[in-house]
Amino acid sequence: MSLNESLPTPDARLGSGPSAEERVLPAHQRSHNRTLVLQHLFHEGLTSRADLARATGLTRVTVAETATDLLGEGLIEEHGVQRGGTGKPALLLAMSTHGFQIVAIDVTGAEELRGAVLTLRGMMVTEASMPVDGATGADLVDKVEDLIRALISQATAAILGVGIGAPGIIGADGTVHEASNRGWSELPLAEDLTDRLGIPVSVANDANVAALGEYSFGEAADSILCIAAWQGVGAGLVIEGKRIDGAHGAAGEIGHVTIDDDGALCACGRYGCLETVLAEGAIREAIAGQNETQAVTTLAGIGVTVGTALAPIAAALNLDEILFNGPEDLLDGVLLESAEDTLAHRMLITDESRVRVRMANLGADSVILGAASLVLSTQLGVS
Ligand SMILES: [Zn+2]
Repeated sequence: MSLNESLPTPDARLGSGPSAEERVLPAHQRSHNRTLVLQHLFHEGLTSRADLARATGLTRVTVAETATDLLGEGLIEEHGVQRGGTGKPALLLAMSTHGFQIVAIDVTGAEELRGAVLTLRGMMVTEASMPVDGATGADLVDKVEDLIRALISQATAAILGVGIGAPGIIGADGTVHEASNRGWSELPLAEDLTDRLGIPVSVANDANVAALGEYSFGEAADSILCIAAWQGVGAGLVIEGKRIDGAHGAAGEIGHVTIDDDGALCACGRYGCLETVLAEGAIREAIAGQNETQAVTTLAGIGVTVGTALAPIAAALNLDEILFNGPEDLLDGVLLESAEDTLAHRMLITDESRVRVRMANLGADSVILGAASLVLSTQLGVS
């Protein structure tokens, strides 16, 4: 299968000719209706046309016409008959599992690039990886392109788009403003790869993409901060179901906020950043040589520091949950419990609005699944 054969033509994507509704409704309203229907099917799964009308507030006629368009485009599919109930049996609709696929790439790892082909429902069709071999700059972009092409050749349906989660400060247009350890500066990565591949490519910061993955596929709540605490500390935000990039693409970059004026020297050259407390190496150093009781006290103390740093963020954004990716043996347990208690003590909240602090669900796959979600949100408005 050549690259071109695997791609939908613009005409095939748009379906054939304008429907009656298209002639009446302005394009933005049609697009809004499509997004409402797709968003519901993505999150709720199998739904009848009648239930879609109830859930979206659209008329039955509008839902029927929108569904016909989406079926024609291969974005949704029909499933058997709904049993039970009193009305006449209805065919159920769901996001398509075979009409289109997504290529998702994780550029986070220093040693290897990871990628996958996924269905529109986030099921992995195939996975692949490629050693980085020390490549940076333009050489690394070539490797990313090679991995994408290898995955496209393994896809079994047309590719809706390519999503990439990459480290660094990345603008809304997919330009990598700065990713110093990748040798990328003011690199229009999304535009370059879109031109080379002839498929829409979306690029966003890996931490923000991971947060999107947890929201879309990891059963996280609607408003979350997702913190990665490994060698460094970064975080991504999803608020009310939307990925947040911020004014300069650096939303969620809390690792280098000063939390202790007398703290340790940080990799960034300043002192007392959150990273000097919460990075894996910092925690291991803090408990080195301690017995279990001492270590529990130390981890609880780190949890208090972390909870204190996060409370104003959680309050300002009215977060539901704060999720952590990082070493489970250090984070899961007393550290996160202590952080959650500290948040509760320092915020004006009720039991229902208590901010939950927990380990993230998707682990190492969060960036891949988030990159797939990035494609769904940029191409279909679904997240
Ligand atoms: Zn720092």
